[in-house]
Amino acid sequence: MLQLMRDGRPRTRAELIQLTGLARSTVGARVDSLLAAGLLKPAGESRSTGGRPPVRFAFNPTAAVVIGADLGATHATVGLTDLDGTVISDRTVELDIASGPVPVLDRVVDLGRELLKEAKRSRADLAGVGIGLPGPVEHSTGRPASPPIMPGWDGYDVPAHVSAGLGGPVLVDNDVNIMALGEHATVHPHVDHLVFVKVATGIGAGIISGGQLHRGAQGAAGDLGHVAAPHGDGVLCRCGNVGCLEAVASGPAIVGRLERAGVDVHDTRALVDLVRGGNPEAIAEMRAAGREIGAVLASTVSLLNPQVIVVGGLLIQCAESLLAGIREVVYGRSLPLATEQLQIVAARTGGHAGVIGAATMVIQHVLSAEEVERQLANLAS
Ligand SMILES: [Zn+2]
Repeated sequence: MLQLMRDGRPRTRAELIQLTGLARSTVGARVDSLLAAGLLKPAGESRSTGGRPPVRFAFNPTAAVVIGADLGATHATVGLTDLDGTVISDRTVELDIASGPVPVLDRVVDLGRELLKEAKRSRADLAGVGIGLPGPVEHSTGRPASPPIMPGWDGYDVPAHVSAGLGGPVLVDNDVNIMALGEHATVHPHVDHLVFVKVATGIGAGIISGGQLHRGAQGAAGDLGHVAAPHGDGVLCRCGNVGCLEAVASGPAIVGRLERAGVDVHDTRALVDLVRGGNPEAIAEMRAAGREIGAVLASTVSLLNPQVIVVGGLLIQCAESLLAGIREVVYGRSLPLATEQLQIVAARTGGHAGVIGAATMVIQHVLSAEEVERQLANLAS
């Protein structure tokens, strides 16, 4: 019933009985306990058909708050959201992930406390904390698993550290899954099959299948960057393999090729500026990278049949040339049935996708039927 109410539409008890097919007494008891928990609130009266007008109820997104933290290689954004995933306030700071878990997570805890204080919410109002990390994470335990750019983090108990400082359940996942959740929740909530591709220093994908994030057996699903690219022959990847997509189509890979061709460009940001400034070599390389990504994505389309492919990450600031290359190959290689309705679009949530996604991960957990059941049982006892 709560899942139904989360669309925000006010409904009367009679409407809920009709919609759920549950008995009058069951709906009555449920509404009462959800009201007591603060998850529903009275929302005015419905028009009367004679007699006392029936009261309407609506989901109350301000019943609790959530902290979402999006940690990158050099920056962190920590935000406070309500139970709809709407950002109330946020803070972006420079934070070097390589300085290790203790100073980084202490800072996240401090920022979280500041945001709670500013919003005049207490730790008791906090439903949970969601964290996105720039490396592989075993989602079930919240521990990073041999993350390449995060020395000292391997196997670290991130949830224990953060819940000691802030409380609440603490859920952790990699940044690409978090961005996929954020983009799905805010821009494509009615799309059940979506693939989010991040193209930046690395390349990765977050897969939404049947409306749920698909993490795979060990949380390693969506590792697109280390699939073999069609023109990857002989190019060494930082993973130790040869010919990976990341080694030919990531920001640093494109920058390297341009530098060898004599173009003055040192990093991915400078590359973005060159493409936006109309540099023909940079545009051509960006489009070629798009085609490599498209070739790997064409297999993904054949396997998963998504409705939408969302492309995000730093390089999407050159959306036109990158998307042109991706579309060229995906539409050319995949079967018409799979591409008939397929949209390939740029991410729209921008800088907030990580925070919203991290919060969404927590909200989906705390508002799941089992969790709500448990909270109501605790409240009743
Ligand atoms: Zn690789």
